[in-house]
Amino acid sequence: MSISVSNISMLYDHQKALNNVSFDIKEGEIVGFLGPNGAGKSTMMKILTTYLPPSEGKASVNDFDIQSDPTQVQKSVGYLPEHNPLYLDMYVREYLLFNAKVYKIKKSRIEEIIKLTGLTPEANKKINQLSKGYRQRVGLACALLHDPKVLILDEPTTGLDPNQLVEIRELIKSVGKEKTVFLSTHIMQEVEAMCDRVIIINKGEIVADKNLNEMIDQTDQMVEVEFDYRLEEAFLLKLPNVTSVKNVSGFCYQIIFDTKKDMRPAVFDFAHDNELKILQLSRKNKDLESLFIELTQPKKDSNTK
Ligand code: ADP
Repeated sequence: MSISVSNISMLYDHQKALNNVSFDIKEGEIVGFLGPNGAGKSTMMKILTTYLPPSEGKASVNDFDIQSDPTQVQKSVGYLPEHNPLYLDMYVREYLLFNAKVYKIKKSRIEEIIKLTGLTPEANKKINQLSKGYRQRVGLACALLHDPKVLILDEPTTGLDPNQLVEIRELIKSVGKEKTVFLSTHIMQEVEAMCDRVIIINKGEIVADKNLNEMIDQTDQMVEVEFDYRLEEAFLLKLPNVTSVKNVSGFCYQIIFDTKKDMRPAVFDFAHDNELKILQLSRKNKDLESLFIELTQPKKDSNTK
């Protein structure tokens, strides 16, 4: 197993940042660790990279135990922390050489890594002249210098503009062909763009662990319907299998059902029985973003059964 986490808890003074967290990541997977700010993502990553000892539980990376074999864990892991620490006054190549020396890595690896991370045109520039996107590339280059089997990337795309975002996602995906990647984000689209699997964490606890295809299958069904006049949302709660109803605009309603069976005929029959006219009726997949919101935000009781 590339990463194995078993019943990890973490207490900062009296604040519980992680509560009995367990998951395994297989070699070659690209896994998104998704959760709102403060959910415990960075804490988990710092534990896996041996920067922080957990209060309870066990974890291993590349089959090395984080507590009994921290040096082997560090050799196995490339880590890009959330606030990518760079020496801004250094030149890109010089900075990579400096890091290579610290970790006793051959000089020839520098050119390889510059090429791999698309830094060739910027290699002779000072880091403070680089855009945020290129600074992230330098951070990734550093994380990759010792050719680790596992990459741990803490919010690698935060603060990038849309073009940089696309480029860094592509780079991570291409690097991920050869390595196990565990990356954190608070944005669902990031996971959809880069990952095979998502582990969702909320308030220090895992609330979902699914591969993306499974996740899409699992999402509830949403039917959007437009009537010819306004109804009380509560009236539509009489429909079978309904979990919530929302008036989205004018006479248009989004109805969520907890079944995979196509509910459009039921909505049609319901309208007919209640002498309602339907102007439009369509079925939609609830997107992953709303699933994430549902799993990580307190439920509102007002319009659910
Ligand atoms: P995330 O990366 O998901 O934003 P963190 O792991 O940074 O979450 O934080 C999880 C919780 O632990 C938060 O409530 C945060 O305030 C708290 N926390 C994180 N680091 C420390 C620390 N060094 N001391 C005290 N509390 C901390």
